[in-house]
Amino acid sequence: MKTEIPTPDDHQAMREALRALCGGFDATYWQQVDHARGYPEAFVNALTEAGWLAALIPTEYGGSGLGLTEASVIMEEINFSGGNAGSCHGQMYNMGTLLRHGSEAQKRQYLPRIASGALRLQSMAVTEPSTGTDTTQLKTTAVKKGDRYVVNGQKVWISRIQHSDLMILLARTTPLAEVKRKSEGMSIFIVDLKSAIGHGMTVRPILNMVNHETNEVFFDNLEIPAENLIGEEGQGFKYILDGLNAERTLIAAECIGDAYWFIDKARRYASERQVFGRPIGQNQGIQFPIAADYIETEAANLMRFKACALFDAGRPCGAEANMAKYLAAKASWEAANTCLQTHGGFGFACEYDVERKFRETRLYQVAPISTNLIHSYVAEHLLGLPRSF
Ligand SMILES: Cc1cc2nc3c(=O)[nH]c(=O)nc-3n(C[C@H](O)[C@H](O)[C@H](O)COP(=O)(O)OP(=O)(O)OC[C@H]3O[C@@H](n4cnc5c(N)ncnc54)[C@H](O)[C@@H]3O)c2cc1C
Repeated sequence: MKTEIPTPDDHQAMREALRALCGGFDATYWQQVDHARGYPEAFVNALTEAGWLAALIPTEYGGSGLGLTEASVIMEEINFSGGNAGSCHGQMYNMGTLLRHGSEAQKRQYLPRIASGALRLQSMAVTEPSTGTDTTQLKTTAVKKGDRYVVNGQKVWISRIQHSDLMILLARTTPLAEVKRKSEGMSIFIVDLKSAIGHGMTVRPILNMVNHETNEVFFDNLEIPAENLIGEEGQGFKYILDGLNAERTLIAAECIGDAYWFIDKARRYASERQVFGRPIGQNQGIQFPIAADYIETEAANLMRFKACALFDAGRPCGAEANMAKYLAAKASWEAANTCLQTHGGFGFACEYDVERKFRETRLYQVAPISTNLIHSYVAEHLLGLPRSF
């Protein structure tokens, strides 16, 4: 193979170290976890012990204090190795809410143990069944009673709860009718899952298309100590939005990793598989889609690194983070389709691993933000078109 995929860049030393670690968890490992609908515990432990998941935590709190650029390379390499960073990416970015808006006491209490892996903060509960993408209409309430907040309501699609110690919760603290703007009156809390589950919080797993641990959650008079409020009461929605650029850019990088994985897998198979006495990759009908996927992935990658550079420079990057997520998710999904098609019938065989990655990468057209909502963002915020909802 002439080309190295992905093309070598300034992060080679880091990529090599990650490839050495991820190389210990091969396709068979991920297939077994997938078939068992299990959690890649050994992989996540290895990643944690090597410190990679603490990349974004400042050194003063025990992390490695790296930028979003480096963090994104970590996510990309996991997915490029054939793994699925969706099992643990929350541990990398959910703590950002605490880091940016938590009190010094909260940061000292939680961040060093999140950095060491002693505590997992992998969950963030925003989505609700009756309101979906229309977050400001959420129905879960947190009412202050003395030194506690009492939470009632329901969430859906809340990932990794069964593999977390802590969860960030967004709930309404002032009724919608009493706020000037619908984005006001919501607050975020840190929930200690061990003390919450069975004491006002019930978790029901949702069996789904991917091996992704996600759940329905019910709150029935769950009591949270008032000191678990993060930042100011009523500002929670703004705090959640602040964290989305990092989340979207990291997931864009995962999609880039997937896309390169599909492209590499497709070109190898296309070079080896002989039909009509020649490699199938000699046919333009096979090689052109793979070439197109490579072009689109390289382009998406530029937007991903642009978003990272702006974020790391402390500059606004909402447009770039959204566009990177859009382009990367599109590139990975198209590469997934090409890879499956290139493999013909064998693409459907679990042994070839294409079908697993195909399912996994499809998720990113919908979560954590759907493609339509990115179109809306660009139409409204970049092109000045009227808001459509
Ligand atoms: C596996 C998985 C894991 C998830 N993990 C989490 C998690 O950990 N925490 C969490 O809070 N959430 C999580 N989510 C939820 C995810 O963020 C939502 O599914 C997503 O934001 C879409 O919301 P919805 O499913 O309610 O779709 P809806 O809001 O019901 O939308 C359905 C469709 O209609 C489209 N649509 C809606 N409104 C408009 C509009 N105005 N214009 C154009 N199109 C529109 C949407 O784009 C979408 O395609 C997860 C979801 C999945 C599937």
